[in-house]
Amino acid sequence: MPHSYISYWEHDVWLKDIDIAIIGSGIVGLSSAYFLKKKYPKKKIVVFERGFLPHGATTRNAGFSCFGSVTEILSDIKKTGKEKAYKLVRDRFDGLNALVKLHGKDAIQYENFGGYEIFTPDEEKVFDACKKKLDDLNRDLQDVLHLKSAVYQVSEKNKSSDLGLKNIVGMFFNPWEGQIHSGYLVQSLVDLCRKVKVEIITGLNVTHYTTGSEEVHLISENDIEIKTKQLVITTNGFAKDLVPGLDVHPARGQVLVTSPISGLQLKGTFHHHEGFDYFRNIGDRVLVGGGRNLDPDKETTTEMKPNEVIDQHLLKLLKEVVLPDKKFTIDHQWSGIMGVGEEKSPIIQYVKENVLVAVRMGGMGVAIGTNVAQKVAEIM
Ligand SMILES: Cc1cc2nc3c(=O)[nH]c(=O)nc-3n(C[C@H](O)[C@H](O)[C@H](O)COP(=O)(O)OP(=O)(O)OC[C@H]3O[C@@H](n4cnc5c(N)ncnc54)[C@H](O)[C@@H]3O)c2cc1C
Repeated sequence: MPHSYISYWEHDVWLKDIDIAIIGSGIVGLSSAYFLKKKYPKKKIVVFERGFLPHGATTRNAGFSCFGSVTEILSDIKKTGKEKAYKLVRDRFDGLNALVKLHGKDAIQYENFGGYEIFTPDEEKVFDACKKKLDDLNRDLQDVLHLKSAVYQVSEKNKSSDLGLKNIVGMFFNPWEGQIHSGYLVQSLVDLCRKVKVEIITGLNVTHYTTGSEEVHLISENDIEIKTKQLVITTNGFAKDLVPGLDVHPARGQVLVTSPISGLQLKGTFHHHEGFDYFRNIGDRVLVGGGRNLDPDKETTTEMKPNEVIDQHLLKLLKEVVLPDKKFTIDHQWSGIMGVGEEKSPIIQYVKENVLVAVRMGGMGVAIGTNVAQKVAEIM
């Protein structure tokens, strides 16, 4: 018998007789585990995560509870037509309702301060062009989302200075947008999983798997071999390591958070440049992120490292637009990895008879993750 990294005791309690294994403990992996356990209470379901905490996007994002900005939706309509563009909006909107229904507002610190799309002087023409299309867009979206009032409103002229912003030529306001605390979202998911007795095992990096007719064998670092009847892969931006042929690749996002700012006027979530830049308040701090379009080649990576060009761009945005007259320092800085592809929609499909993948959440996993997981449970 070969010497093993795993003891008899460890194998007996955690790694034996697994019915469904899930790789990845982000919003999709944990929510899928929860819904699958609700559907199959007797099955042993185990989530394997390589980080000591989830180490992809779910605890490293901006926590926007949003479903699209005016420029983004108009650009999607131009690229893919109304039907596809509105389906994305509808899926995000429904997904956010499902998220809040599953966790409750308090558990994820959901706040409905509304969201804004801002336009700086270089975008005056874009703002004017969007304004002309706003009535049509609102009419369509009210219909698609079954709302009684318009989604987007042109903000009053003095609203940007009330929020402490400078160098703004126009803003759209979306009263349906909110923000969450991404750490508490994962804590709430872990609590739900524990309640229904889903096992979550961290620190286990699955390097590959093989399939037979009855079983899937997962192989991890240290040559631990784990057998499961069914496998769900929810590794999003890292999916290609395990399933090379998929149309999903990593897209890194940079985030900075300021020191607390006394008298901070900013409240809500803000999109800029078709959502490539974004910022929000976290209490009396400001989170800013984005700028990936400035260095797309370097940002197509799973390496979590800073990018000097993007950091300078985000600092400039903070100094010139978001906090023009305030003193601040940067207290937190990190990056996270999204999974993106040619299409903006997620991939939820069997890649082998007993291996299902649910990946490619793009920049909208908070919005769509819960419903993607519900779909996983439906089709498995
Ligand atoms: C900077 C940034 C800001 C964002 N802001 C927002 C936002 O405001 N609103 C919004 O809706 N979305 C946002 N997103 C997107 C959103 O966070 C993601 O779409 C979502 O979290 C994806 O969830 P997931 O469960 O699919 O993947 P992840 O959260 O990435 O989870 C995948 C997990 O798999 C694990 N893993 C990978 N490979 C292996 C392996 N071989 N073995 C074991 N474990 C493995 C990883 O460690 C990771 O924990 C943002 C993303 C980033 C990066």
